[in-house]
This record gives sequence, C-alpha cells and structure tokens, in this order.
Amino acid sequence: MKTAVVTGAAGFIGSHLCDALLEHGFRVIGVDNLITGNRANIAHLLKNKRFSFVKKDIVKGFDAKGKFDFVFNLASPASPVDYQKIPMETILANSIGTKNMLDFALKKKAVFVEASTSEVYGDPLQHPQRETYNGNVSITGPRACYDESKRFGEMLSAYYGSKLGLKVRIARIFNTYGPRMRANDGRVIPNFITQALAGKPLTVYGDGRQTRSFCYVSDLIEGLLKLAFSNYDRPVNLGNPEEMTMLEMTEKIRALTGSKSDIFFMALPEDDPARRKPDISVAERELGWKPRVSTEEGLRKTIEFFKKNKK
Ligand code: NAD
Ligand code: UDP
Repeated sequence: MKTAVVTGAAGFIGSHLCDALLEHGFRVIGVDNLITGNRANIAHLLKNKRFSFVKKDIVKGFDAKGKFDFVFNLASPASPVDYQKIPMETILANSIGTKNMLDFALKKKAVFVEASTSEVYGDPLQHPQRETYNGNVSITGPRACYDESKRFGEMLSAYYGSKLGLKVRIARIFNTYGPRMRANDGRVIPNFITQALAGKPLTVYGDGRQTRSFCYVSDLIEGLLKLAFSNYDRPVNLGNPEEMTMLEMTEKIRALTGSKSDIFFMALPEDDPARRKPDISVAERELGWKPRVSTEEGLRKTIEFFKKNKK
C-alpha cells in the first residue's frame, strides 16, 4: 500500500487531497497545527483505518516510522488576510517547515510535492503568466511574508532535487475555491458568497477591475495528483485560465444566490496584483491536465456548502 504524508491536511485544499489519496487506496498521515485549518474538514476521515492525524507544527520538525512514498507539503496560511495577521508563522512554515519536510522526504526516499503559488509572480508584468517568468514581487511589502517565503520554498525544493537527488514536484497553484474554505478567511469568494447569502453589500476592493482566474478544488486536486505521479521536475502552473474581474464575479454570485445585495467599494489593499491568469500549456503537455469544472458549476457547489454551514 502506498503511503503519503499531507501537511496542511486540516486546511481547505489539504483535506480534499486527503480524500482523493484515500480514494486512490493510499494510507495517509495528515499533519496540521490548526493555525488556519479546521478539524471539521477531516472529521469524516478519522473513521478510516488508512487515515491518521498528527497535530504538529512542521517548523518544529517531523518524523514518522515506516516507509513513505509521497510527501505533499501544503502547510502554510494561504489567505492574504490570514498571512498578513501571522507573517512570522507564514515565513517559518514556508522556509524552516519546508526544509524539515524536505529532510523527511529525503530520509524516506519519497517524492516531495511542494504547494507553491501564483504569488511567486507577484503583480505580474507578463500576461498570462508562464513558468519561465520570474515575477514582479515586492521584497518588503505586506504580501512579501508569503510571496518571498514561497519563492524560498521553491528554491529549497529545487536544490534538494538537483543537488541531493530528491524527486521534487513543484505546483504553482492559482486561486482555488470550493467547499471547506473558511467563511471568514477573507478571500474573495467566501466573502462575496457569505455577504450575498446574508443580504449584505458585497465588498469590492478598488474599482473591481482587477482580474483573477479561479479553479474549482476538484480540478486542482486532479492536477496535483497528476503532477505527483509524473516525472516532471520543473515548476508547473495549476489553475483555471478563465480570467474575470472582481465585478464580474459579484454578478455571477448575485445571480447564483438570487441576492439583491449592493456593491460596497473599499480601498484596494497595497500590492494587490492587478491581473492574474495562468498559462497552463506545460500542465496540458506534460500532465495531460486541464480544468473541467465550469465557474457556474463550481460556484453552485460552493454556495451549497456555505448555505449548509451558515451560522
Ligand atoms: P488553508 O489555510 O485552508 O490550509 C493551510 C493549512 O496549513 C491549515 O490547515 C493550517 O492550519 C496548516 N498550517 C499552516 N502552518 C502550519 C505549520 N507550521 N505546521 C502545520 N500545519 C500548518 O489554505 P489552503 O487554501 O488550503 O492552501 C493550502 C496550500 O496551498 C498552502 O500552502 C497555500 O499556500 C497553497 N495555495 C493555495 C491557493 C488557494 O487558492 N487556495 C493558491 C496558491 C497556493
Ligand atoms: N477582494 C475583493 N473583496 C473582498 C476580498 C477580496 O474585492 O472582499 C479582491 C482582492 O482585492 C483581490 C481579489 O479579490 O483583488 C482576490 O483576493 P483574494 O484575497 O481572494 O486572493 P488573492 O488572489 O489576492 O491572493
């Protein structure tokens, strides 16, 4: 039986990854310090004999007995609101935490999968973003704790790959959404959906003409697994290239929830990227992957989740 460690297992993406690995017949050890995660995301897995959970901060090191085939490293705050509240925890998770998990993978001769981010491109001057683009990242701005530590994590992973012979896979994940996001994590889709369901104004930052490209979580998980099972050792963009403005997103969410909420314009946060869209030709060519879930279908499922979990 194949065995995987998933760090960040009680988070949004990590919990879906655990589900998928268990469905593939894996034994899974989920690791999380619950700093932005939630036990409820993995409560349904605790009955499964092939799943176990370890509450642990990866910055303090990680070890486990036995054979391991894969280490999926997802432990890091991911919402801009979260990581700007806890910048040092974010910096350490993506630097020392990542090094600890790389050392563990090296010891076990496991494949190491690093959850990197489109934020390595910062506020990109190239559009859409290709893996060859080195980005436009503020070194000292409010997002730097995340952006620069993720860049460091990629560098470290690439070093373990090229110099120490570790099998490394680097996913540059673009905005991903779906059930199990925290209603109050501050990211745009949970904000707009919870506001629309409560009949409150939708908070649009800036003029709302900035763009993002949103990927539904099941598509992302499929891409992550294809990458893990491939032999491709360079960074790969994983995201949905369908680009939209935040104003367009308010329209979609208002239509799908039937909400008549107004729009409330607020200040644009410092260093908020103006445009973001992945070029996914590497993922298409190397992994045979592209997203399949439409924005409408993904939003419908996410709205259902927030309706069910409304406090
Ligand atoms: P999340 O906040 O829901 O999950 C992150 C999980 O990591 C949480 O459960 C948290 O408690 C845990 N964690 C944080 N620091 C830890 C530490 N030191 N030790 C152990 N556990 C720790 O975020 P998410 O959206 O699921 O993101 C998961 C990963 O994917 C992150 O690495 C993130 O940077 C990356 N990513 C996500 C997106 C996205 O749009 N969701 C985009 C790009 C990259
Ligand atoms: N945003 C917004 N209203 C909100 C939350 C976010 O207009 O209530 C904007 C934010 O300024 C950014 C985009 O939505 O331009 C995506 O923000 P999010 O925090 O989800 O992710 P990011 O891509 O910035 O990491």
